[in-house]
Amino acid sequence: MNDQDMFQELELPSETVEFTPTRQAGLARLEKFASRTGQPYARQRNHDFGTALRRNVSVLSPWIRHRLITEEEVLHAVLAHHSISAAEKFIQEVFWRTYFKGWLEQRPSVWATYQYGLARALNDGTRYSDYQDAIAGRTGIACFDHWAQELVRTGYLHNHPRMWFASIWIFTLRLPWQLGADFFLRHLIDGDPASNTLSWRWVGGLHTKGKTYLARPDNIAKYTGGRFHPVGQLATVAEPLTEPFEHHRVPLPTIDPMPDGNFSLLVTGEDCQIETVLAHSPKARLGVLATPSFEVSPLVLSFATGAVEVSSGAVVNTRSDWSGQIIDAASVAETKTVVTGFAPVGTVADQLAELNLRDAGITLHQVRRDYDTLAWPYATKGFFGLKKKIPHVLRALGFAA
Ligand SMILES: Cc1cc2nc3c(=O)[nH]c(=O)nc-3n(C[C@H](O)[C@H](O)[C@H](O)COP(=O)(O)OP(=O)(O)OC[C@H]3O[C@@H](n4cnc5c(N)ncnc54)[C@H](O)[C@@H]3O)c2cc1C
Repeated sequence: MNDQDMFQELELPSETVEFTPTRQAGLARLEKFASRTGQPYARQRNHDFGTALRRNVSVLSPWIRHRLITEEEVLHAVLAHHSISAAEKFIQEVFWRTYFKGWLEQRPSVWATYQYGLARALNDGTRYSDYQDAIAGRTGIACFDHWAQELVRTGYLHNHPRMWFASIWIFTLRLPWQLGADFFLRHLIDGDPASNTLSWRWVGGLHTKGKTYLARPDNIAKYTGGRFHPVGQLATVAEPLTEPFEHHRVPLPTIDPMPDGNFSLLVTGEDCQIETVLAHSPKARLGVLATPSFEVSPLVLSFATGAVEVSSGAVVNTRSDWSGQIIDAASVAETKTVVTGFAPVGTVADQLAELNLRDAGITLHQVRRDYDTLAWPYATKGFFGLKKKIPHVLRALGFAA
């Protein structure tokens, strides 16, 4: 297809996506997009024509991130319209999320050192005004400033601008990558510890060691339909970042069988639909929101709160003392077991690790989905290791060949 045909194909009707934190809204978006996940997606996905033209990408990430709709549901919907090979590109994108989660689960020190590096960068005031200009969209680089403001205003950025933005942040503005990753986590409605941290590290050359991503003016012009062309404003080389330690791989956590008897359900933003895989209904439900050490934007907070609230049917509590609330809820329901969706490495897992339920005789049981259990073991090195196992994972999950 030549460039002219491509642009004709891309003259798509305007389509903006409302971020309503309900399962129905996610399913409605999925239903609308599933038929478009074949060749048109593969050809058009890299183009970003702005907030009002989101017809070429799914914009499903906020719902998938909180598992208001699951990866499996997305794959089912896609495969109802296309064969695996016709929707190959889209399916691979879904598995990128899986890859990042599985990889971080096996290298938790990356998350810990990111947080440490972030705290240091926040306390180091030397580049404070440059950092403030970057997050306010006042650098004088029109595309970068536009994306900074678009992110704050809408809570979403297309994947390609995320890559360009991170690259300009690291290699042109030379700001610490951890501050950029933190800016994203505060403002992305789909903000996810694994995808975000590892994508920033990938751009900077820390994930695939020595391989960086350089944002180029012509590439930006091509994929923004000529809206931006920052000639002469961007770094022309991208020397990989380095760090003074290795992140060793640790085994994936084992999964314990589901305990017998009554239980209370703890709903977190990691998996709002975990109840659907349980054999029995809980006696009580409690929804909790992770309280990260940083403040998130009102858009992020309202989506996350809504997601947990509609899924738990209970008052969402944002207080950091989860133990007391869980003990209270379990005791009212007269249960000694609390079940929750498996929390992958990230803020929720950090808070679960700090719980003190044992003194109250309560045990916490994390339920991991078969999808994660099957796919994560292949996320040990590069994405290719998981990519070549996608057909195997799909078969094991019961998808027809
Ligand atoms: C620097 C940087 C930071 C990022 N931070 C996040 C983040 O915090 N949370 C997040 O969910 N994604 C993050 N991504 C990945 C990606 O940009 C988004 O998942 C994607 O843009 C979401 O839009 P979409 O749903 O329209 O994607 P589509 O193109 O429609 O893709 C379908 C689904 O596949 C998954 N997916 C697609 N691309 C990626 C990818 N590169 N990595 C992981 N999963 C992917 C998502 O679940 C997405 O909903 C980041 C990427 C970069 C470069």
